[in-house]
This record gives sequence, structure tokens and C-alpha cells, in this order.
Amino acid sequence: MLYKRSSQLFAEAEKVIPGGVNSPVRAFKAVGGTPIFVKSAKGAYLYDEDGNRLIDYINSWGPMILGHAYEPVVHAVIEKAKLGTSFGMPTELETQIAALAVAMVPNIDKIRFVNSGTEACMSAVRLARGFTKKDKIIKFAGCYHGHSDSFLIQAGSGAITFGSPNSPGVTAGTAKDTLLARYNDLENVAILIEANKNEIAAIIVEPVAGNMGCIPPNKGFLEGLRQLCTDNGILLIFDEVMTGFRLAAGGVQELLHVTADIVCFGKVIGGGLPVGAFAARAEIMNYLAPLGPVYQAGTLSGNPLAMAAGLAMLQALDSDRTIFKRLEEKTAYLAAGIDKVLKANDVTFTINTIGSMISIHFDAAPVVDFQTAANGDNETFKNFFHGLLQEGIYIAPSAYETWFITDALTYADLDFTIQAIDKVSKTF
Ligand SMILES: *Cc1c(COP(=O)(O)O)cnc(C)c1O
Repeated sequence: MLYKRSSQLFAEAEKVIPGGVNSPVRAFKAVGGTPIFVKSAKGAYLYDEDGNRLIDYINSWGPMILGHAYEPVVHAVIEKAKLGTSFGMPTELETQIAALAVAMVPNIDKIRFVNSGTEACMSAVRLARGFTKKDKIIKFAGCYHGHSDSFLIQAGSGAITFGSPNSPGVTAGTAKDTLLARYNDLENVAILIEANKNEIAAIIVEPVAGNMGCIPPNKGFLEGLRQLCTDNGILLIFDEVMTGFRLAAGGVQELLHVTADIVCFGKVIGGGLPVGAFAARAEIMNYLAPLGPVYQAGTLSGNPLAMAAGLAMLQALDSDRTIFKRLEEKTAYLAAGIDKVLKANDVTFTINTIGSMISIHFDAAPVVDFQTAANGDNETFKNFFHGLLQEGIYIAPSAYETWFITDALTYADLDFTIQAIDKVSKTF
């Protein structure tokens, strides 16, 4: 397949946009080459500016769980747009989507809408700090909670030492309030809590990690975090920006039966429009302005187009809970097919899956945290990525990303993908 016009468009974009993109991973830096420019998308397929059709395993990094240009969402947005696109005043629609979200997700009474997952996580932490009157947070190496300062702390060497900024622009003062722990390592968390007695406001975690590949929690990990938080007056924040309304209607809380104190949403909840949200029981949410002292606001928060898209998406997921089962079956089918061909071609690999999330790591050892995710062979990944692109299959241009299965994918698409992986992995 040729990607000539995409390359030309990228060159033009680079002149006026830093790196040619509005979000770094889109630039293909980790795999080389130039990004694909999309013209349109429908169902499981992307159509690019060169006229290629690609099977899409990224789906806008998660939101399009029912496929691109899903008819009820498109219809809702078009009809809403005719009535005005933003008011900065309350609308009934906001209450409708809030009520539905509260009904679908366990253990939340109230929800506030923002414009991105980043905002949701940033606001959740501020709320946790205000509520507990403590400053520090614990996050896990390899977990991503958006690009706000407190979260841009790299995986350091010692987990008990203070984090150090991994992006210039994050001050040391901010970094010192973020403590780093190893994913799936409860003992590590317990030591951090002990060393920072009565100073920790919250533990924020992706309850199923999806930003270092897909890493499900070990048995007992989330339950252990819950217990440590309860015992030490710490709020447990589940960042379900990726997993919310994806792994179950009620997210990981429902799937794995562990309750969080604050839950963050994004991606699916906006149906493909810019939406984030955070939610908790009333006692915590009432700490937010205008009821409480913790300030949080947004000119376009609860925007009618975004809420219309999100509501149509949640209604679709709420009215047909078999979707989650179907997605899981498709993921399992794909994983089994890939497993078979990679083994037959003597490739060293590990596949992680849960629900509609899947990642392939080119390393034999189990991938359970950031360190083991980083052990994957990146040269093999690059060849894998570009090989699949030539076959018309689009996976994330980084070995640290999860693939997302959508309801629009057919078994024929999955078979085509498995055959393509067979062909590509023969060239390794
Ligand atoms: C994508 C993501 C975010 C950030 O959301 P944005 O909408 O990109 O700001 C935060 N947390 C998790 C777990 C995510 O996957």
C-alpha cells in the first residue's frame, strides 16, 4: 500500500504544528515513518488520504467501542448542532447523561463532566486533596493519567524515593508530592504509605492498566489497594478513562468487584467527542464548587454536542449488555489466532488480554508492570507495525499501547488480521 499523500500532508503539517501533530504518539516517532492522514472512517475501517482502507485496532484510542460513525451518535450530534452548539448554561441533557452514568456505574452518586481524561484525573486529585486535607499521591510507574503536572513522573529507580519530573516544565515542588510505586506490587505500596504516614491523599491507579500495553491486575492487587486505603484514610481513585463503559457497563468496579472512592472517565463516555468526567459518592462530590471549597470549572464543560454524543453511546451500551460479552469473545478469538501463528513462526511473545483490550509483547516473560513491559523487543515491534500497515491493518504506533476491539469488527476482519500477522511474522 502507498502512503504518498499522507507523507506530503505530514510535511505541510510539520511547518505549522509542532511535530506535525496535536498529540505526540500520532507522529510515529517510536516506529519510524510518517503518520497516516485520515479522511473518514466507518465501522471497523479507516479510509486514508491515499484511498487506502485500513482495519482499525485503535479506534481513536478507545472511544469508538461500537465502531466509527456509529449511526445513533452521528444522528444525535447533527440534531443537537441545529439547536446551538454551546450556551455556558445548564441543559436538561446534562442531567440525562449524568443520571444514566450514575445508574450504570456502581458506587457513585454524582458525576461532573469535563472536556478530557486529563482534566478528569487532575480534578479528581485536587478533590481528593481538598477532601482529605493531605498533599501527596501515589501513582504507578507506567500508568497514564493524562498530561497534567502531577502525573508526568517517570519510573524512577527506587520506589521509595521521591519521583523526579520526566518532562521539563514540571517543577520539583510538584514532583515531590507524587510517589511512585510498581504496578501489581502491594508490598511496595505499603512501604510508601508507611514512609509517608498521614500525608497521602490518594492512590490513583488504572485498575486494568492500558498504557503500557494491557496489564490486568494480579489477583488481590486491587483488593489490597482498597484495604490499604481504607485502613489509612486514603482515597482510592480508579482512573477508568480507558476501561470505563468498556470492560463492563460499570467498568472495572463492576467487572472485578472492587470499589473505588473516586472514578475518572473519558474516551467511551464521550462517544468520540471531547469529554471526561469524574464521579464519587455525594459526600465527596459535594466538596466541589459551588457546594464546597474545591474549585473546578469549564467554559465548554457539559457541551451539548459532546453530551448528545455521550448519551447516545451510553444508551446503546446500557440497552444491550451482551455487547461486552461479544467483544470479549472477539478478543479471545483474535488472541488465540495470533498465538497460533506466532508460535508456528517461532516468534518470542506474550499476549495480554482482558475484555476488549489486547496487547502483544515481543518478550517471553509475563508482562505485569512497567519494567516487564519495557523488556519487549522494539525492533521486532517496528517490523510488525510496518508489516501490518502494508497489509492494511492499523495498530498503535508504539509497543506500549493496547489494541481495542470494536463491535464493528467481523470475524472475517479478525481472520484477515490473523493471516496478515502470519505473513508478517514469517519475515522476522
Ligand atoms: C487516555 C487516558 C487519559 C487521558 O485522557 P485524555 O482525554 O487524553 O486527556 C487518562 N487516563 C487514562 C487511563 C487514559 O487511558
